[in-house]
Amino acid sequence: MLNGLMMEQPLLISDIIRFAAEIHPESEVISASVEGGVHRYSYAESLARISQLAHALRAEGIGPGDRVATLAWNGYRHFELYYAISGIGAVCHTLNPRLFPEQLIYITHHAKDKILFSDLTFLPLIDKLRDKLPQGMRYVAMTDRAHMPGQPGDLLCYEDMIAGEPTTYDWPPFDERTAAGLCYTSGTTGEPKGALYTHRSSLLHSFYVILGNRTAFEPGKKVLPVVPLFHVNAWGLPYAAPLSGTSLVFPGAKLDGASLFDLMEAEKVYSSWGVPTVWQGLLAEMAKRGRAPAGLTEVIIGGSAAPPAMIEAFERDFGVDVTQGWGMTEMSPVGTCSRLMPKQMTLAPEQRWKFKQKQGRRLFGVELKIVDGNGRRLPHDGKAFGDLYVRGNTIISGYFENDKATREAMDAEGWFKTGDIATIDGDGYMTIVDRSKDLIKSGGEWISSIDIENSAMACPGVATCAVIGIAHPKWDERPLLIVVSKEGAGATKESILDFLRPKVAKWQMPDDVVFVDTLPLTATGKVSKKDLRAQFEDFRWPEA
Ligand code: AMP
Repeated sequence: MLNGLMMEQPLLISDIIRFAAEIHPESEVISASVEGGVHRYSYAESLARISQLAHALRAEGIGPGDRVATLAWNGYRHFELYYAISGIGAVCHTLNPRLFPEQLIYITHHAKDKILFSDLTFLPLIDKLRDKLPQGMRYVAMTDRAHMPGQPGDLLCYEDMIAGEPTTYDWPPFDERTAAGLCYTSGTTGEPKGALYTHRSSLLHSFYVILGNRTAFEPGKKVLPVVPLFHVNAWGLPYAAPLSGTSLVFPGAKLDGASLFDLMEAEKVYSSWGVPTVWQGLLAEMAKRGRAPAGLTEVIIGGSAAPPAMIEAFERDFGVDVTQGWGMTEMSPVGTCSRLMPKQMTLAPEQRWKFKQKQGRRLFGVELKIVDGNGRRLPHDGKAFGDLYVRGNTIISGYFENDKATREAMDAEGWFKTGDIATIDGDGYMTIVDRSKDLIKSGGEWISSIDIENSAMACPGVATCAVIGIAHPKWDERPLLIVVSKEGAGATKESILDFLRPKVAKWQMPDDVVFVDTLPLTATGKVSKKDLRAQFEDFRWPEA
C-alpha cells in the first residue's frame, strides 16, 4: 500500500455553520417562537449568537465532554444550542419531553447532565421533577427577561446569559470522533439506551441525507422539520439544511394541521419531514381547505410505515410528492429512502406508489443485510424475510455506558441488529415486514401487522388503526384490528371486514375488529403496540 498525500482536517460540526454563514448568507432560520410570533434571521446572524452562547457556556463552566441537556421544541434557540454545545467539544443531550417522568429522571442521571436548557412550555414539568433530577444541575429558561416566570429563583435566562458576549468564537479543532450529541431511544422495553453521535458521524450523515434527497436541499428552498430536534436530531436536518444552504423553518410548539398549513403557506415551504401521525393532521386540514399549502412540493414520511392511503392522498389529491424514509435513533437516524429509480418515473401513478410503500433503498454509507434465525444471509429477492442488520459510519458501535445492551445489539461481524424484520428486492428496495416483536405467528406462518394496517387505513370509515396479535387456542396468535373510526362515517366491524376481504389473504384476515377513541402513542409519535397489548391483555376471541 502507498499512503496518499492529502491533508486531513477533522470533520467538525462547527464547520457547517461557519460555512453556511459565509457561503449562504441569504439563507435563513425561521421559527414560530414559543413566546408567539415568527422569528427570522440569517445563518450569519445565527452564527453570531451561537458564538455568544459558546462564550456563555464556557463562562458557566461547561467544557469538553460535559453533557448539556435540552428540553425544547424546534426553534432558533434550540438550533443555536446544537451548534454552540458541540462547537466547544461538549455534548448536546436532547431530552424528549414526551418520555415518562421516570425515564427523564433516569436518563439525566445516566448522562450526568450538568445544565438543562428548556423552553418555557416545559418549566412546569421540570418543577415537578426537580427534586429527583441530578443534584447541582443548573437550569436555563430559553427566553428573554420579559418572558421569565414570576419567581425565577435560581433559573437562568438564556438571553441574559448571552447578552454582551463576543459575537465571534475561536472554534477549537479537535478529534472528529469526539462525542457531539446524545439521544436516548424511547425504550419500548427496559430502560432507554443512549446513542452517542460523533462530529464525524453527524457530518457524514448530513452528506448522505443530502445525497439521498437531492430535491429537498438547495439555496432558495425551505425545509420544515416537523420531526423534533428533541429526538434523533430532527433526522439530521439542522445539519443538512445549513450545509446545503437550504433555509430552515421551525414550527415551534404548534404541530396541529392548521398551524402547520399556515406556516408552510406563509413561508412557501418546499419540503417537510415528519411521522405519519403528524401528516394525518395536515391532510385533514388540506382536505378542509381543498388544497395543499402553496409551495409545498414534497413530504418525507418516516418513523413508522407510511400507509398507502396517505401516500395516495398526498400525491393524487394534492399533487405533493411523497418519499418514505426509514431509520433509527441508533442510525443518526436515516438509513433508507424510497426515492424512485429512473425506470420507475414513467410508470402509472398506482405503480409508482407501490415503490413508495417500501421503506426504500439504502443511503450511501449504510449497508443492509437480512439473516435467518441461524444468522445465515438471506437472498435479496423481495420475498425472503429475516432480521435486518445494518453497518456503517453513521450507526452506533455500542450504547453509551451500557455493555449489556451493546452485547445484545451487535453481531460478531460488528453489524447492528435493528429489531426489524425485512425483505430486500433485487433493486435494493427494503421493505419492513414488521418489528420482530409485532409479527403475528398464526399456525406456523407469520402475519405482518403493518400489511393489514396498510390495507385498513384505506377504508373510508377508518381514521387510524393498529393490529396486534392475540393468543389463540388453535392458531397460537391471530390478528385483532383496533380502529379509531372517522366521525360520522358509520364504520362497522362488517363494513371494515368486507372492505378488507378482497385485499387481504383469507388466513391473514383479522379475526375481530374493535373500536377505540384513541390509540396510545409512544414518545416519538408512533402507535405504541406495547401499550395496546397491555390494554387488550384480557381480550378473548368470541369463539374461544
Ligand atoms: P426510533 O429509534 O424511535 O426512530 O425507531 C426506529 C424504528 O421505527 C425502526 O426500527 C422501525 O421499526 C420504525 N420505523 C422507522 N421508520 C419506519 C418506516 N418508514 N416504516 C416502518 N417502520 C419504521
